[in-house]
Amino acid sequence: MDIKEFTLKELEKEIETFEEKKFRARQIYDWIHKKLAMDFEEMTNLSKGLRQKLEKNYTLNQLELLDTLISGDKSTSKFLFRLKKDGKKRQGSVIESVLMKYRHGNSVCISSQAGCRMGCQFCASTLHGLERNLTASEMLDQVYHIQRSLGERISNIVVMGTGEPLDNYKELLRFLSMISDENGLHISQRNITVSTCGLVEYMDKLAEENLQITLAISLHAPNDEIRRKLMPIAKKYSIQEILTSCDHYFEKTGRRISFEYSLIAGINDSLEQAEELSKLLLGRPCHVNLIPVNKIKERTFDHGSEDRIQKFKLVLEKKHINVTIRREMGADINAACGQLRKGYMDRNNIEATKEGKHEILCKDRRRTQKDNQSG
Ligand code: SAH
Repeated sequence: MDIKEFTLKELEKEIETFEEKKFRARQIYDWIHKKLAMDFEEMTNLSKGLRQKLEKNYTLNQLELLDTLISGDKSTSKFLFRLKKDGKKRQGSVIESVLMKYRHGNSVCISSQAGCRMGCQFCASTLHGLERNLTASEMLDQVYHIQRSLGERISNIVVMGTGEPLDNYKELLRFLSMISDENGLHISQRNITVSTCGLVEYMDKLAEENLQITLAISLHAPNDEIRRKLMPIAKKYSIQEILTSCDHYFEKTGRRISFEYSLIAGINDSLEQAEELSKLLLGRPCHVNLIPVNKIKERTFDHGSEDRIQKFKLVLEKKHINVTIRREMGADINAACGQLRKGYMDRNNIEATKEGKHEILCKDRRRTQKDNQSG
């Protein structure tokens, strides 16, 4: 059993069964979530007997570091981790996390699933389908490993790595609550962004959770017709449904929405499309992130010239829409998200799993919801 999965309250109950004093739970929690211990042996203010009991009953560290890549300018590091082996599988799945060092602080981009079943056309992380959801503990561990190896505080988190976070709702929420808990790393919710391809039902639910996180929407198209070509999820939810849900999120939380828009030459990057996009967003408290699409070798998508990108941006600016162009940092270490993991899987002939085929997603809304609750 994974001890990192317990909240402080749950750990207090758990420790009672060992006939230990309640304050021991707080000490253990502190070792795990503040001092970021990787081993029970590090917990030197506990008796040897208790450490041995913990060792016997629980696991602590969920990740094995397989590879690290550091960009030439040292701004970006990518970490390839292996998860603990699950079920019948010979080896644990691999996931990727990224550390970005900005002037304003250190930001970590974490994965929420091993693989993804959303099937977005331009994305490398979905090509092998979904292997499995990550637990909250596995999400925490990505941050803990990186903070530990960096020796500096992580101040920002973006849940924008592999996976669709809202497709793993329960564990995502547990992660958000634990990472922002004052008994742990206490990262401000305002410094946490969760990115979704637009699972409207879960966006609506998230609005009711009383959180202060930023919601980022992967929009990528100015109308449903183009969106459906790029993102299978657009067959299930229209842009209007997504925007209504965004408005609701803003009303409830006061947090403005971020919209991500990957610019793909000849598909969604014309000036008319910029006009169309600005009509959608006009008057909405939001921020637009334009991302020149990162090439992946399995697809022919590419971005247009710098001039074309700037002109697209200008159209939005003229309408007073808050917009930035997001450049991938550390491009020399293979910028496109998910490529480190994908390369590893290709080299090791790891196949997509049957459950990971994203087609199931669009067939039946209720079934997807049910899958989620159980998983
Ligand atoms: N599933 C979530 C988060 C994962 S991806 C989501 O869809 O938002 C994080 C962001 O990177 C998303 O906006 C995604 O659409 C974008 N992205 C994925 N592959 C990309 C690529 N090759 N080029 C540019 N952006 C990409």
